[in-house]
Amino acid sequence: MKRPDVIVVGAGIVGAACAAELQALGRDVLLIDANHPGGGVTAAGMGHLVALDETDDELDLCLLSLARWDDWLTTGAGVAEHVRCGTLWVAEDEAQLAHARVRAERLGRRGWDAVELSGAQLAHTEPALRPGLAGGVRVARDGVVYPPAVARQLADTVVALGGQTRFGTTVARVDDGAVTLDTGERIAAGDVVVATGTAVTRLLPDIPIFPRKGHLAITARYPRRLSHQVVSMGYGQTEAGNDALAVAANVQPRITGQWLIGSCRQDGIRHADVDPRVLARVLRSAIALLPCLADMTIIRSWTGMRPATVDGRPVIGRHPTLPRVWVAAGHEGLGVTTAFGTAQLLADLILARPESIDAAPYSPSRFAHVPA
Ligand SMILES: Cc1cc2nc3c(=O)[nH]c(=O)nc-3n(C[C@H](O)[C@H](O)[C@H](O)COP(=O)(O)OP(=O)(O)OC[C@H]3O[C@@H](n4cnc5c(N)ncnc54)[C@H](O)[C@@H]3O)c2cc1C
Repeated sequence: MKRPDVIVVGAGIVGAACAAELQALGRDVLLIDANHPGGGVTAAGMGHLVALDETDDELDLCLLSLARWDDWLTTGAGVAEHVRCGTLWVAEDEAQLAHARVRAERLGRRGWDAVELSGAQLAHTEPALRPGLAGGVRVARDGVVYPPAVARQLADTVVALGGQTRFGTTVARVDDGAVTLDTGERIAAGDVVVATGTAVTRLLPDIPIFPRKGHLAITARYPRRLSHQVVSMGYGQTEAGNDALAVAANVQPRITGQWLIGSCRQDGIRHADVDPRVLARVLRSAIALLPCLADMTIIRSWTGMRPATVDGRPVIGRHPTLPRVWVAAGHEGLGVTTAFGTAQLLADLILARPESIDAAPYSPSRFAHVPA
């Protein structure tokens, strides 16, 4: 095996995007995963490509990444099962409508087409919604993909461009410019990128990333289609804390005719079992917006662990004490949307190019004071 310039550990959508980006920029990459590409949290989420704007830097990263998604989808749309369905942010009351208005204005100002809708316009736009809602925002350019297929495609791209992959291979230890596999084999490289999602802290104990559990369910196939991803304006406004449970309706149309139903956030839980009481709350909140769901059949439910950080930002950049180790992880519920932007920003940093957006909010150094 030739000595790689960069080893990327973790072939979820984030690591696979970083590996493909660095290989395309002329670095010899070795992409390693304990399982197979896209088999981690990337296979458990919703795949909503969505411009979120809870902070300016979050919106910067989303818009950088969504532009890259647009480029990638010009050839990869079929593989990705892409649908540009847009997002319908639904306000149930006047307070949420005020928040929706701010979102429409903020996204519109950044050129991401967003239109405020009255209650009547909302009902006309998505007739399956219950009557009497306050209004909302339609964001036309958001969309939906099937993330594990994209991760697999990106891993294939690494190989097609001359890079190497090793799957079914667990990294047991990361040192400055080298990894040691669980077999004891040591592989050296110029740089190491750790993109192992919720497992980052196992390899780098001073980078605190923790699991935030979500429940999802999917219906059988139906001829009646949702035309948008329908999300309550309550989504993302409430954070789960300790054992608290935050639930907000989020329903996605799949190209198969299935309706994918989320979502909730729960901290402090390590087991992946479906909790019927939590699932019932997720379903009730979805039915409260889309009453026809009550007559539809759920064929499968599952959970996924979002890789979360205490300040809600991903970790992208150089490790605080290991100069040849880089981190790309902690994207919580936005890792699919922001994978390509993360890859571009990380490549800027590794190649010492001008930063595409301000990297400071994502720096791993912000955890330097946190006791391990
Ligand atoms: C319920 C739910 C809904 C979501 N909905 C959305 C959404 O609509 N839109 C959106 O943008 N995001 C969404 N997300 C978030 C998104 O899925 C994640 O942020 C993203 O998939 C994280 O990708 P990752 O590559 O960092 O992690 P992962 O996909 O977990 O990849 C990490 C990889 O590292 C490998 N690995 C771990 N340890 C080692 C080791 N020691 N050695 C070698 N390999 C290792 C694993 O096998 C895995 O393949 C959702 C998540 C959940 C749970």
